[in-house]
Amino acid sequence: MPEKLHPKIDNGLPRESASFAGGTLVCACTSKPVKVKVKGQIAHNHACGCTKCWKPDGAIFSVVAVAGTGDVTVTENGDKLKVVDPSALIQRHACTGCGVHMHGPVERDHPFKGLSFIHPERFQEDGWSPPGFTAFVSSIIESGVDPKRMDGIRARLKTIGLEPYDCLNPGLMDYIATWTAKKSGALPA
Ligand SMILES: [Zn+2]
Ligand SMILES: [Zn+2]
Repeated sequence: MPEKLHPKIDNGLPRESASFAGGTLVCACTSKPVKVKVKGQIAHNHACGCTKCWKPDGAIFSVVAVAGTGDVTVTENGDKLKVVDPSALIQRHACTGCGVHMHGPVERDHPFKGLSFIHPERFQEDGWSPPGFTAFVSSIIESGVDPKRMDGIRARLKTIGLEPYDCLNPGLMDYIATWTAKKSGALPA
C-alpha cells in the first residue's frame, strides 16, 4: 500500500484548465459557509508538511497556494473567520465553525508581502493549477509521523511528481534570499 498523503494527490494530480480564471473557496460548514472569491489562476501551489497549514482529516500534507491579496475577497459569512495566530507571518483566517483556513495574507515586511495563502481544494470549481513540489517534508515528524516512514513518503512524493524539499523549493528560497540581499545591500537594489 502506498503512503496516503492527501486526497487531492493520492490518486494523481488534479488537471489545470487554461480557462480557469479564479473561483470561490467554500469552507466545510453545512450551514452558513464562509465563501472567499479569488480572481485569476493561483501560483506556487504545493504540498506542505508544516504543522501550521490546514489539512483535511487524515491527510499528512496540506495543499496550499498563493494569490495576490488584492485578488482575494471574503464574500459571505466573514464574521465566522478568526486569525489563528496573530503573531505568525501568515495571518491564517480560520472558520470558527469547521476549522478550515480560508485565506492567509502576509502583511508584514517580507518577500511574500502582498500574497495570500489559500487551500485550492476548497474551490467549488476545477481547473486550478496543481501542486508542483512538496515543502517542509521533514516537519511531518513534528505532527507525529514515525520517522521510519520518511523514506517511503519521500519516494511516494517523487513518484507522484512532487519533488520533496525540507524547506521551500530552490526557486522560492532564491527569491527570498535575493530579497534579503537587496535589503541588506549585499546585492544592488
Ligand atoms: Zn466553516
Ligand atoms: Zn505549511
